[in-house]
Parts: sequence; structure tokens; C-alpha cells
Amino acid sequence: MATTTSSLLRLNSPMPRPSLYNSQGRVFLQNRSKFRAQPRTKPICASSLKTESGVQKEDIVIVGAGIAGLATAVSLKRLGIESLVLEQAESLRTTGTSLTLFKNGWRVLDAIGVAESLRTQFLEIQGMVVKSEDGRELHSFTFKDEDQTQEVRAVERKILLDTLANQLPSEAVQFSSKLANIESRDNGENLLELTNGTRLLAKIVIGCDGIGSPIAKWMGFSEPNYSGHCAYRGLGFYPNGQPFAQRVNYIYGRGLRAGYVPVSHTKVYWFICYNSPSAGPKITDPSLLKKQAKELVSNWPAELLELIDISPDETISRTTLVDRWLWPGVTPQASRGKVVLVGDAWHPMTPNLGQGACCALEDAITLTRKLADSLKSGTPSIEDALTAYGEERWPRVFPLTIRANLVGSLLQWDNPLVCSARNNVVIPKLVRLGPMLEHTNFECEPLKA
Ligand SMILES: Cc1cc2nc3c(=O)[nH]c(=O)nc-3n(C[C@H](O)[C@H](O)[C@H](O)COP(=O)(O)OP(=O)(O)OC[C@H]3O[C@@H](n4cnc5c(N)ncnc54)[C@H](O)[C@@H]3O)c2cc1C
Repeated sequence: MATTTSSLLRLNSPMPRPSLYNSQGRVFLQNRSKFRAQPRTKPICASSLKTESGVQKEDIVIVGAGIAGLATAVSLKRLGIESLVLEQAESLRTTGTSLTLFKNGWRVLDAIGVAESLRTQFLEIQGMVVKSEDGRELHSFTFKDEDQTQEVRAVERKILLDTLANQLPSEAVQFSSKLANIESRDNGENLLELTNGTRLLAKIVIGCDGIGSPIAKWMGFSEPNYSGHCAYRGLGFYPNGQPFAQRVNYIYGRGLRAGYVPVSHTKVYWFICYNSPSAGPKITDPSLLKKQAKELVSNWPAELLELIDISPDETISRTTLVDRWLWPGVTPQASRGKVVLVGDAWHPMTPNLGQGACCALEDAITLTRKLADSLKSGTPSIEDALTAYGEERWPRVFPLTIRANLVGSLLQWDNPLVCSARNNVVIPKLVRLGPMLEHTNFECEPLKA
């Protein structure tokens, strides 16, 4: 175990010993099974990176360079542990426009040292206002009135991903690397086969491969369930400055709701969520998506319709909302041997609480701490550390997944009497924001090597 431990830790000494250099002057670790001589922005084909049997050996492989994968890689790096991230796409994902991060997400971004640069780019949202479809204000809330420590900002996904990736050496993320198959060996190592033919033998595999995760399938997880709702999304662009106050605007109709929130001084994120018995065919044509979105809310406040109109085509998308409930005793555990799931790959949840990415960030830092303890001391074993991660995170993510689903069902009601009671009694008189945001409490200390 001691050998494994030392081989997994990146040495943080500012002046590495000469024996740690290879002939090209690049650092490699004693006891490491390989050294990295090439930037990993392209599929690896250089034979120098392969062992005699043609299998590339790695210590920790993270599959998926989304929020979960990159946050995990950055967290590990903060503790001096290097990893290789495999991403199927040719570059970081640019779609998905924006997502709202609550204080739990910011606590993690603080802990891994990237929050400040993001704060300078995205507006802090002060509160929220709820309206009916005719534009009548039903209730408004100020976040800090409810909780002084609350922090809410909508961030552009691409900038979040870029910021995380910039914390890593360029060779740490290997693009065009789609996992096709995974297989555990008797010695506990895992063979990963990519669609480009590359084969990797990894001691630890962290599956951050999102809702369609092939690793989750291999571990016995079922497909995520369709919630009965879909969402159009976009990012309105105002080159001369957007006109909105720094608050989230929600509009609740019958079986239909919309929201919009300023992201920055020029960009405003919007969504429209609607009921649909089936997911329907995949549509990517932005003008058709805009047309469909506008038809749904044709009589709603004009600012929403304008936002749709001024959204650049590349920001428009339609998504089916899915989740997976992690039933105890029925659903597999978060880890199997030395393979573990993080983020949507493990617990896809509907976006009704704005917690999917926040929880992926929480997962990343929790897993990193458990793994680092195991790697540094040898106790507990890696398998036990991964099990402990799953046990710590399950009571957090399982109820949140259910709650997000139920909130979505309540907000998507289409019965006119129920909607009238919701808009005239429940929202104006009964709803309190504080208890509704208690799930955003999550503390974590900065990661230090
Ligand atoms: C409409 C909507 C709104 C949302 N709003 C919010 C919000 O406001 N706040 C919030 O916190 N969350 C929100 N979420 C949830 C959030 O987007 C997800 O929880 C988050 O993106 C999960 O990150 P991830 O890294 O786990 O997965 P992903 O972002 O899906 O990343 C997975 C990565 O793995 C890669 N990959 C997949 N398969 C393979 C393979 N075989 N080989 C190699 N790579 C692979 C993918 O290309 C991708 O880069 C929203 C979700 C939706 C659908």
C-alpha cells in the first residue's frame, strides 16, 4: 500500500530531485507506471505512452470533463494528487448556457480556489420575484433577509468549465476520448477501452460521465427516469447592457412556468418548463426551438418573449428533465471496487432546486478528501474510502433528488383550481424562502496539500 500511495501522489517539492527528470527534462515520479511527455488535447497514439502490451497505465482516471470531472481533478490537484481526465468531446462543452449556483456551490468553489475569479464575472442575485402569467407580482423575497450567508449567482457553464480546466496542466484533460467499455481485473485494476482503440489500465476510475453514464450502466444502475417535463433554455444578449434588476424572475402558469435571471451586465438566462407525456424527437434547429418556446408563452410578459428573440442561436436548447432515485437496498452503491460515480452519473436530478451542479461540486470535494486520506495513510483502503464517500453523500443527494422532483410536479400542476390556490394563497401567504433554501447549507474547509 505504501508503494501505491507514493506512486499516486504528485510531489509538491519546488525543486524535484534530479532522479525525477526524464531525458527530456520532464518530471516523472519514481514508482509511476508512466510519464506524460505529450499534451493530451488529442487522442494518444504515441507508443511511448503505452506499455509493452499496448495498454496505457494510469493511476486515477476521471471519465468526463463536465463540472463533476473537472472539479474532482482540480480538488485532487490541490491535494497534490494527479489524475487524467478523459472527455469524449473535442473540447469543453459549450452548450447548456447557464446554471444558478447557490451558496453550497460557492463554498466548494472557494475551497478549491476558483470562486473569486468567477465572482468578478457574474452578478450576485439579491432575491426573487414570483409572478402569474399575466405579469401580476405574487410575492418577492430577498435572499439575505432569509440568510445572510446565502450567495446566488447564475454562471455561464462554459466559463465555469474553462475556469476549472485552467487550473489543470493541459495534458491532464484528454479530449476525443470516449469510453466504450470498462472491465475490472482480478487485481482490482480497471481496463478502460476507448472508441478510438486506446486501452488504459487504471487503478482508480472516477465516473463523471453525466446522465447517460456508461460507467453507471456497467455498475448496474438503471437509466434515468423521464420526469414528464421538458425545458427550453437560452441566454439573451444585450450588447448595450441588460435592463433587469439582480433577481430571479419566476412566472407560474398552468402546467407551464418560466424564469429568467441576469447572469452578467449583458446576458440574461431564461428557461421555459412545460409538461409533455414523452420526451419527443430531438430538435436542434434554433429557429424552430425559439418558435416553439414563444408559442408556449405567447401571452406572457413581453420581456420574456423579447429575451427569446435576442438569444443567439447557439445558446438555445431543449432538454428533457430526468432523474434517478437511489433507493436503499435496490439501487447499486456509488462505488464498485475502485470505480466510483460523481455528479449526474450517480444522481441525476431535475433542476427544480438548482442543485445538480452544486451537488456535483459537493461530491467532488467530499470524494477528494476521502481518497486523499486513504492514499496518504493507506488507511482506510481505497475501496473503503470510496464506500465511505457514497455513505456520506447518499443521505444528502437521495432526499434532494426526490424533493426536486416533487417541487417540479407541484410547480407544473395544470389543474385550474389548484393553480389558482397556488397563485392566490400558497405563494403570497404561506411560502417562506428560508426553509426552502436550507438544503443549500454545506460547509467545507479550503483544500490544502
Ligand atoms: C435544464 C437544466 C437546468 C439546470 N440548472 C441547474 C442550476 O441552475 N443549478 C445547478 O446546480 N444545476 C443545474 N442543472 C444540473 C447541472 O447541469 C448538472 O447537474 C451538471 O451539469 C452535472 O455535471 P456532471 O459533470 O455530473 O455531468 P455533465 O455536465 O453532463 O458532464 C458529463 C461529461 O462527461 C462526458 N462524457 C459522457 N460520456 C462519456 C464517455 N463515454 N466518455 C468520455 N466522456 C464522456 C460528457 O461529454 C460531459 O462532458 C440543470 C440541468 C438542466 C438539465
